[in-house]
Amino acid sequence: MAEPAYSLAATITGTDAPGLLDRLAAAVAAAEVEILDLEQTVVRGQLSIGMLLAVPPRDADVVQDRLAGACARLGLAVSMAEGVGDNPHRHNRTIVTLLGRPLLAGHLAATTHVIAGLGGNIDRSRRLSRTPLTTLELWVSNADPAALRPALAAVAASAGFDVAVSAAGLARQGRRLVVMDVDSTLIRDEVIELLAARSGRQAEVHDLTERAMRGELDFAASLRERVRLLAGLPVSVLDEVRAAVQLTPGARTLVATLRDLGLSIGLVSGGFIEVVAPLAAELGITYAHANRLEVAEGRLTGRVAGELVDRAAKAAKLREWAAAEGLPLSRTIAVGDGANDLDMLAEAGLGIAFNAKPAVRERADTALNLPYLDAVLFLLGLTREEVEDAAAARTASS
Ligand SMILES: [Mg+2]
Repeated sequence: MAEPAYSLAATITGTDAPGLLDRLAAAVAAAEVEILDLEQTVVRGQLSIGMLLAVPPRDADVVQDRLAGACARLGLAVSMAEGVGDNPHRHNRTIVTLLGRPLLAGHLAATTHVIAGLGGNIDRSRRLSRTPLTTLELWVSNADPAALRPALAAVAASAGFDVAVSAAGLARQGRRLVVMDVDSTLIRDEVIELLAARSGRQAEVHDLTERAMRGELDFAASLRERVRLLAGLPVSVLDEVRAAVQLTPGARTLVATLRDLGLSIGLVSGGFIEVVAPLAAELGITYAHANRLEVAEGRLTGRVAGELVDRAAKAAKLREWAAAEGLPLSRTIAVGDGANDLDMLAEAGLGIAFNAKPAVRERADTALNLPYLDAVLFLLGLTREEVEDAAAARTASS
């Protein structure tokens, strides 16, 4: 379609009231006036409308007079800029999401400074949440996400807020697979430590877990060592531990909302299927994979049955489940906190380090450092209101 030879960009601001856009639209409605764009926001009752109209040049004065007259009658301020053509087309935009509690003006300034320094332009912004944390979404054009990501991660880490960089576009919508780690991600606990507490070997197991999660010890060797310390425990401890496990704040909301969105979910854990499978069943999660504890004569033998779920196995499950769902890796999201999650975080379309150890945080695409797992939903572009409305609809239909 040919670009209009004359177009009028009007910016209208003032106190919002019902019916304003109706009156403004009526004022400019004429046979050959075409709407090219309309954007409207209301911030605490203050309205801002951007309107782009293609107008036959002979009618330009009439349309401007009618719009100015309508705004005057409605008590709105208007500024009009004459020009040619449509908005510039913005392809391959990048989405920058800021999260903070509180989110300070200085956090925004640090972010915009980085974006501007890399030649990026912020075309749009909106607020996604105010509780339990404040989330802003910025739509950025002319910026290379590969350059933005490390630069923003560095300022966010030093200023104490969270930032995520993702590509806008189709991969952000439609079917996706979300694969989550379990211990210290979906749940607050490390299951092996709950088991160790029942064997009197808690301190030794805790030390080995910490060192493995920091990446100081080979995960597989340290896991075998920790499981060895559980030898002799009666299998009934697994029921006790299942009952003791506590979900991370926001975990139930995250999973229920992902299910409402029709996304597929998997749990992959270096912990134990005896705890992970019942959790997956309770939450309605399709896929689950974890280590199995070997049992003989009603007691744990101190060995893992079958192949160990290590760092490589976690990434392999992400690929396997994506293939089973017919999804490319660009449509996967992985969430985890430990060094054994790094491969799956790197391979996923969006890898989120959740309250992770520094070594993991520094190497992941995106880090969330506030303890709310449902903040993942904001990285997918959902608003708090949409999440709450979905929860209300679930309650109403149950
Ligand atoms: Mg973990």
